[in-house]
Amino acid sequence: MLIGQVLSAQNSMKPEETEVWEPEPKVIQPGLYTAPPSDAIVLFDGTDFSKWRSERNQGEVQWTLNPDKSMTVKPRSGGIETREEHGSIQLHIEWKSPTIIKGEGQGRGNSGIIFQRRYEIQVLDSYQNRTYSNGQAGAVYKQYMPLVNAMRPTGEWQVYDIVFNEPLYNEKGVEIKPGSFIVFHNGVLIQNAVEILGTTEYIGKPKKGRDLMPDYGADRVKQRTLLLQDHGDLVSYRNIWMRRL
Ligand code: MG
Repeated sequence: MLIGQVLSAQNSMKPEETEVWEPEPKVIQPGLYTAPPSDAIVLFDGTDFSKWRSERNQGEVQWTLNPDKSMTVKPRSGGIETREEHGSIQLHIEWKSPTIIKGEGQGRGNSGIIFQRRYEIQVLDSYQNRTYSNGQAGAVYKQYMPLVNAMRPTGEWQVYDIVFNEPLYNEKGVEIKPGSFIVFHNGVLIQNAVEILGTTEYIGKPKKGRDLMPDYGADRVKQRTLLLQDHGDLVSYRNIWMRRL
């Protein structure tokens, strides 16, 4: 088709022909700052651990519930995971590293948000604390460094808003569409729809495949829960909610 013909085909169209009216996006009530929107699933509001269990034995959570409606990792008690599995979600989560600075690099305020027990967005005190770039706060661990370092100072609350699109698989468990992450840190875009390369591994390359787990979680059940990591540091979390996509 010649350019002129394309233009005349365009000109013969009416504006209405490219308007989409159905379906209409559902009207929801957006939240004010920390208040979740009306269609969110609240995972933690400071009241209790009813949506969570220990990752080690699927038993009761051992972490500390604080009077200020936050929770804190209990070192060496193991991570905690949601009771329910999740697919593609929008996640809001706030976290804070200990006010008393201890350790350096990966040893300072380390935790992590691990989607489907396989893909970690790093939680680390990366305020004036150098480590490898693809392992600092907001990294898709060892796959993508954040676009910028948007850390507030040590001991202040940090906010992550994350869109996780799960990888899709065929009946044989072979990946047919990679997953992706979009991450905002304190309102700043730090991961711009990056393609997930596979499980986030401490050692070695990411692994793709429906039933594969990261090496550090190889002994775990293969459920697709949301996991908060116990890395031995007193990291706190609050205001956790998600919206299924
Ligand atoms: Mg971590």
